[in-house]
Parts: sequence; C-alpha cells; structure tokens
Amino acid sequence: MIHNKPTRRRWSSLAVATCITVFANCTQGQPVKTVTCVPFWKVQVTEGLWSARLEANRNGTIPASLAFCESSKRIDNFAIAGKLKEGKFTGLHFNDSDVYKVIEGAAYILKVRPDAELEKYIDGVIAKFAAAQQSDGYLDTYFTIARADQRFRHIQHSPRHELYCMGHLIEAGAAHYEVTGKKNLLTVAMKLADHIGSVFGPEKRHEVPEHQQLESALIRLYRATGEKRYLKLGQFFIDQRGAPGRRKNPASYSQDHMPVRKQSEIVGHAVRAMYNCAGMADLYMETGDAELLAACHRLWESTTRRKMYLTGGVGATAHGEAFGEDYQLPNASAYAETCAAIGLVFFAHRMWQISPNGEYIDVLERALYNGMLGGVSLIGDGFFYVNRLASSGKEGRGATRRTWFGCACCPSNVCRFIPIVPGYAYGHRDDKLYVNMYLPGRAKVKMDTGEVTLIQQTKYPWDGRIKITVEPARDAEFTLKMRIPSWTSVNPVGGNLYRYADNADMGVGLKVNGNDQEMKIGNGYASVRRKWTSGDTISLILPMPVRRVLAHEKVTANTGRVALQRGPVVYCAEGKDNADKAIEIVLDDGMALEAEYCKELLGGVSVVTGKLPGGREFAAIPYFARANRGASEMNVWFKRTQTGPPTNDKKEDTNEIEGHFDGDGH
Ligand SMILES: [Zn+2]
Repeated sequence: MIHNKPTRRRWSSLAVATCITVFANCTQGQPVKTVTCVPFWKVQVTEGLWSARLEANRNGTIPASLAFCESSKRIDNFAIAGKLKEGKFTGLHFNDSDVYKVIEGAAYILKVRPDAELEKYIDGVIAKFAAAQQSDGYLDTYFTIARADQRFRHIQHSPRHELYCMGHLIEAGAAHYEVTGKKNLLTVAMKLADHIGSVFGPEKRHEVPEHQQLESALIRLYRATGEKRYLKLGQFFIDQRGAPGRRKNPASYSQDHMPVRKQSEIVGHAVRAMYNCAGMADLYMETGDAELLAACHRLWESTTRRKMYLTGGVGATAHGEAFGEDYQLPNASAYAETCAAIGLVFFAHRMWQISPNGEYIDVLERALYNGMLGGVSLIGDGFFYVNRLASSGKEGRGATRRTWFGCACCPSNVCRFIPIVPGYAYGHRDDKLYVNMYLPGRAKVKMDTGEVTLIQQTKYPWDGRIKITVEPARDAEFTLKMRIPSWTSVNPVGGNLYRYADNADMGVGLKVNGNDQEMKIGNGYASVRRKWTSGDTISLILPMPVRRVLAHEKVTANTGRVALQRGPVVYCAEGKDNADKAIEIVLDDGMALEAEYCKELLGGVSVVTGKLPGGREFAAIPYFARANRGASEMNVWFKRTQTGPPTNDKKEDTNEIEGHFDGDGH
C-alpha cells in the first residue's frame, strides 16, 4: 500500500556522528569534500566472480541488448525522428531511455577494452540521436514522431516519461564524455539540458520529472562541464518536488507528496525513490545543504532498517512497484525490481562518499551480490525484472529470466551498471585509502601522498582471506583502511531488521608483512597507519562459516523462519538440488551445515549442504545463481525448528580453495 503516513524520526548514532563530522567540514552553499573514488577503469579485475560477470556483460548482456534495441526498432525511432528514414514510432513511449542506457554501458566497455568496431557503432547511434534532436534542443522520438503538438503536455497527467528519457540521454552524454573524451554525445546532452532549462525553472514551468533520473544526470553534466546552470536546474527539480501548492493531488507514488527535505519515510515507487535519494545526495555534495543530508539519513534508515529484504532488494509490492509499510516484506510476492537494487547501490555509494562509514558499503555489498546480481543470468543474456524470495517455479516472470522485456528498464540498467562495479572497490580522502570491495586484481590510486598500486589476491566471496600488496611509487605514510563487513559481527547488516541466530561476533585477523597487527577498528574499517614501502603486504582474514539469519519479529512473513548466509552471499534452495521440493524444507537449528566450493557448478560457487531428518540431502546455492538451470521451486526463508543450538556457532568451515596464498597470513 502506498501512503504518506509521517513516522517518528529515528536517528542512529551513525547518522548523528556522520552529521557532526560532515557539518564540521563544510559551509552551507559550498561543495562538500567527499571521498574520491578510484574509477572503474583503474581497477583491473583479473579473475573470480567479478571477472566472469564483467565478461558476461561485455560478451552477453551488451551485444544482446544492442541487438534488441535494433530488432525492437528502438534505434529506428531515432532515425525516423531525424528524418533519416521513413516510418512510424514503434514500441513504448519511453523506449528511448533503454538505448541511452545501453550506449552508456557500451561506452564504459570501450574505456576498459578499446574496440574500434564498437566505437564506430556507438558513434553511428549517437549520430542518430543528434539527427533526432530538434533545432531547439528537444529530443524525444515518441513525441517528435507521433505527438509533435503534445511536447511537455504530459508531465503531470498521463506521464509519458519524457523528462526521464531526457535524463538518461544527459547521463549517457556526460558518461560518454568522461570515458572517451569525445563531445559528440555531450553536445547533444548540453543542447537538450539547455532546452529543458528554457521550459522549466523558477520563473517558468514548475513541474518535476514524473520518474526521477534527470536530477542526478544534470548534476553529473555540471560535474563534466563545470557549467553551473546545470547544477541549478538539477537543484530546481529537487527543490520543486513536493512543493506546497503546486500539485492538486499529492503523489507519494513519485515522492511528490511533501518537500524532499521534510521526508522521513521511504514511500512509493522504489526505483523513483532510490533515484530521488541519489539525486538529493548529489545535490548535498555540491551545496552542503544540511537539511538535505538530514533527510537522506532519515530515508536511508527507513529503507535499510525497516524496508529492505535480506537480499538488499527493495520495493515489497507489485502494486505501484513500491515500498510497503515498515516490516512488510513478503517473500513469494516480493517485487524487489532489479533497477531498485541498482538504485539502492547508487544511494549507498553517494552516502559513503559523503561520510565513509562501512555501514553504507555493507548495504551496497548486500544489494550487489544478491538483489542486483540475481537480476541477470550467469551468461548475461537473461533477466529478472522482479526478484522473488520464494517461488513455486511456475509463476511466469518470478520463476524464470527472460531475454528482454517490452519495458526493458532492468536489462538496460544492468548494461550500464556491471561495468562500473570495480569503481566501488577503492576510494581515498586526504591520507586515507579505503578498501571497500574484496576482488582480485590491481588498482592504481592517485593519492595526495603520491601514486599507489594495490595488488589484491583473494577468492572472495567464497573465501574470506584477502592479501594486498602495497606498491607506493615512493615510500609514503598513509592510513590503509580495510573494510570489516558487518556480516562478520552479530548482525548481518546495521540495525535490527536481521540478526544471526548464533549471536556471535566472528572476529577478524589482520597481519602486516606477516606479523599480527594491532587493529584500530572504527566506522566499519580496520585502520593501519604506517610508512608504506613497495612490497609491503596486508592480510585480512574474515571467517566465513554458514550462518543462520532471523528476521525482526515484526516481519510476519518470516515468523518461525530462518535464512542462510555465508560471507556476503545469501543462499536459497532450489528444487533441482532438493528432490523438487524447496518450499517445505524445514531446517533444525541443530542440523550441521557445511560449505564446499564447487568449481564446475554455476560458474564456480560455494554450495551449502546438510542432512535433513530422515537422511535426505539438503543443498543451497547462492541466491544470485538461482534459475540458471531451468525453473524449479526456490526458497530463501525456511521453516525453522529448534531442537538444538546452531551447530555452526563460531565454527570455521574448511571451504578452502586452492590458490595463491603463499605469503604471510595464510
Ligand atoms: Zn527495472
């Protein structure tokens, strides 16, 4: 149910501490000093899960999506609007947005792996965008071809996602310029943004985009060009949302029911809500507007403490593709759109850039490995739009992935999202270097103290041992901050929405150059400050037993139920591995559970196994890898019995993967 009931403000100590830190660092109206992220193209992923996912994106998702953009005539629409071709508009009125998103993703691919043929193809599509752009800067093929007299007449009523589509063009333009240095798409984006600014603004029309996206896009365009008018226009749209007296029908569906600075509860369409929060955080970064940040904190808490699935999925109800009430988290009817999990990552990462507390990356990681990653098949050419947490294996789009959708927001979002994932791994501010994601490879970081190369060796998320070799260009003193994930502690994620049945803090181990290191742990990081010399190593051990998770008692869908997690990965059982029956499985607390890495299964995953009463074998696979072997029953939250204490309490499993741990700490 969508509603706009006000809620009590619940500030965590994290939120308060964050505000104190940030407010001390900025003046209202001035940009905030945020953490600088190491861009994805400077983080080379050499093997493991993310290497495979990046390959699948490059070789599966993007080529398949470009082909669908062609065959569904999405690209033809631009040629027709640009009078390069005769014809009528084909498809849904917001189909332009999919092409922009796929081109954004393809441009990211170019940055990492130059490809003259792909570059030529992209330039050809951009030429069609430019042809379709009208002389005044307007660009929307549906209206240009089919409803030229109706431009901007459907913003408030019967929305056609005109400004949403434009937002994606602008974002693609800024992104394409950032990674290629070419201005062909940027020029189209600027001309379009200027046109929007000639129609909407303080002394002009006051509507807001029916689906948020334009706000963040305009701020990104400002960052790419330095042109303040784009920041001001983005700010105008954010300020205008929910403005009193503007709307006859307040609409919590699009977060337009009250000014964003007053909002405390996350409501309405989940993707819009997450993009809205991302835009607010972007604006805070540029202005230091304290009220905006306070609202972001309240909405963060509302989202992650009361309305988030264990998988990091958000948006509980199909009705309005929306957030439900607090603790309303049904499993079989979960909506949890793939785009909403991506939106939560965008929100989380911006909050982390503002205030680098590990809690934000804990949520980012949860959404990334579970809610988002399950949205795409292992090969990269099948997609879930909704991500249920229980399935009979029979009900259409909740049970099997599709190759594409009429409304293709999710596949096209996956196209542009996966390539930037390595960009979430590292960041730096002043003399602090943050390691957020554990993934094998090499990164170059340009710190104030000089360039540093980090070489990371790990089998994460299947093995919790991480070794990083530090290679500063010259000896330099700085603090290396290794993230200690919340899943190693008593709760899998901040707050009390979920807790471990074993109620144990697993503890972690850290060594520098092979010697035990006293750790300073705070804000979700273990900090080591020293003068680093080329060849120094830091090793972290994160214990990864299989752990049972319980939900807050108010989550009635999970009353008497238990879920399984190992490291950052949430598990599910599929009928395929469980005699065709996954829904009715009962897990007793006394049942021993073990994890074993299976190289040949599902691209290489750790499988959780045990013996059910009667001797039947139980097996669970990572939730993200579900439905890759055809449809079958699937379940995340199992019925629970408690005839004995969990046997995996503090137990470290022996799920060792052969590898290159020949150095210290392993
Ligand atoms: Zn979507």
